[in-house]
Amino acid sequence: MKSIIVHGGAWDIPDDMLEDHHNGVSNALSAGWDILKKGGSALDAVEAAINVMEDDPTFDAGRGSFVNMAGQIELDASIMDGRTMRAGAVAAVRNILHPITLARAVMDKSEHVLLVSDGAMRFAREQDIPFCGADDLLVGREFERWKEIQTRPAYSGKEAFAGNTKPGDTVGCVALDDEGTIASGTSTGGTPNKYPGRVGDSPIIGSGTYAVNSVGGVSTTGWGEAIIKVVLAKSIIDAIDMLNMSPEDAAQHGISLLHTRVEGYGGVIVLDRHGHFGIAYNTPRMARAYVNDTMSEPFISV
Ligand code: ASP
Repeated sequence: MKSIIVHGGAWDIPDDMLEDHHNGVSNALSAGWDILKKGGSALDAVEAAINVMEDDPTFDAGRGSFVNMAGQIELDASIMDGRTMRAGAVAAVRNILHPITLARAVMDKSEHVLLVSDGAMRFAREQDIPFCGADDLLVGREFERWKEIQTRPAYSGKEAFAGNTKPGDTVGCVALDDEGTIASGTSTGGTPNKYPGRVGDSPIIGSGTYAVNSVGGVSTTGWGEAIIKVVLAKSIIDAIDMLNMSPEDAAQHGISLLHTRVEGYGGVIVLDRHGHFGIAYNTPRMARAYVNDTMSEPFISV
């Protein structure tokens, strides 16, 4: 059963940003669903859906990303093909609007899984992945946020997700195509004011992204330092695989692990091999949308 699910981050999304988040995940879902409906691949659907949210300044991915402590935007992304278990990821890349497309190039065109910083950007040049100016990624909202953070004595990533009004707009998608292939991907600008070179969970296979055709696929969002420690995406896949959990229960199980073991906050989207969805989060809100062959209308909620 063809199915696709997207997220646009889990945090206390303020009322005046609800509509943008709703429209953003809706547009991303449509872009991916159009591809699946025409018989396209899950990988193409995931890349297209994430490209839409990387273009959308609403989200902390591509344009609109958070600014790091040094005043730069460094982006992370990963993608995984559940049929072959091939995976590609990039971390701490600058001046690239679509890091998910670069992650896919790492998967398709290199023998590696994860390239970082200057090496990843060198690979982008070789693969003719377009570069952009820093101004194409930076939006006024994030410049203002960055200036305001500089006036504070300390600001931690944990604080950013602890159920209060700090932001976390990472984007992700999981899709299942006609051939039974599940693909999963995640793209982010990380956390506000992060240390230069800091890498979160999003480009880490098993933490931010995971897919295996015989079980399902997952994309996560939230406090990366906590998500990495519980290997969140793979823990959810294992719960479906070994504990026979439904995707809904496995998603909830993952968020419980995150919260009880490492006091983490965030959200997850899950798709199992039958095209059934699971969503869980322990933040006040999460932007999410899904559709499959059996639904006349997509589900969209923030
Ligand atoms: N997980 C991302 C990170 O820690 C942030 C987010 O999901 O909003 O880099």
